[in-house]
Amino acid sequence: MPDTSTAIGVDIGGTNLRAARVSGAGDILERVSERIDRDANNAIGRIIELVRQLDRPDVTAIGIGVPGRVDARRRTVLSGGYLNLAGAALAERVEAATGKPVIIDNDCNMALVAEIAAGAGRGRENVVMFTIGTGIGGAIVQEGQILRGRGTAGQLGHITVDVKGAACVCGRRGCVETTSSGTALARHIQEAGLPADTSIDDILRRAAKGNAVARQVLDAWAGPLRAAIDSASAAFDPDLVLLGGGLGKAAFKALQKVPALAPWYQYPVLSAALGDDAGVIGAAVCALIEHRTPLPPSALVPAELTVLERPA
Ligand SMILES: [Zn+2]
Repeated sequence: MPDTSTAIGVDIGGTNLRAARVSGAGDILERVSERIDRDANNAIGRIIELVRQLDRPDVTAIGIGVPGRVDARRRTVLSGGYLNLAGAALAERVEAATGKPVIIDNDCNMALVAEIAAGAGRGRENVVMFTIGTGIGGAIVQEGQILRGRGTAGQLGHITVDVKGAACVCGRRGCVETTSSGTALARHIQEAGLPADTSIDDILRRAAKGNAVARQVLDAWAGPLRAAIDSASAAFDPDLVLLGGGLGKAAFKALQKVPALAPWYQYPVLSAALGDDAGVIGAAVCALIEHRTPLPPSALVPAELTVLERPA
């Protein structure tokens, strides 16, 4: 008997709140989304409402991906971003309102699990992922398990690429988030004297035609990212490095002009495949892994064996 359990994945993004009912294979069966409410209390109320819209008897658990530092084992949000859920009883409230078990984790961990289950990292056991959006997040899977450290490992956006660089929100200088995030890209564009509405696609197009200013912007943006990828590769020896988030595909293109410099660092780098769906798929897959309904014993034994007597 096939396992028909589904789970609901929720992705708390910078702009949108997304939720979807997802199969065990990582297929989205039904989805809803809306603009995020940046008040924590209201946002939790909206999460509960979206989950109720999607809930059905075959839903066995709920997973919620949260931006910021999350201690998944203790189900605690330690620090947040635009929507600050630090200290909020997120998992407990959703669980109480829906009657279904809830797991929470960092949104980058969720996205990487999705890419391994159903995207560009399918079947890989050792994957490092940089999530490039407004900031830079990260996640690491080693031997098929999310690397957690004491709780919040994988903050790849805070790999130092310039000890004398710009101040970072973490309190240090020159983290790759300060050179290679979307925010940093906007700064490089401004510093190059280009109009503020210049898109990364414009920059990539102009650089491909040999435009020196565009090349300079790409070097300033992608050069330090290459250094951070190489540092992460040296530390984790991955099968694959994935670039996700809203700027993942652009960063992948930009990196083609900034190759790894040394033979030590010839690791495959790919752009993530699931786009904006990675968050909800990963949250649901994580919830199913944690709370899959146990199969009835008959489903685990091949039919021809069920007629044999068990040994005494
Ligand atoms: Zn930092």
